[in-house]
Amino acid sequence: MAEIKGLCMKDRDANNKPTMQMMKDVKVEEKNNRFFAKGKCTKCGGNMFKFLSKDDAMKLKK
Ligand SMILES: [Zn+2]
Repeated sequence: MAEIKGLCMKDRDANNKPTMQMMKDVKVEEKNNRFFAKGKCTKCGGNMFKFLSKDDAMKLKK
């Protein structure tokens, strides 16, 4: 499984902005021809969500 990064809404920086964290337990899903990844933050364990291009989704599914 390829590694994927996404914004974590729980891990915020000094300016209270979400930060990029590695996602684990990634699952690629498709809905209405849109692809997205669901997973958990490796840092805090919070749920993460990220939209993917079709190409990225195909790579992650392998
Ligand atoms: Zn987090």
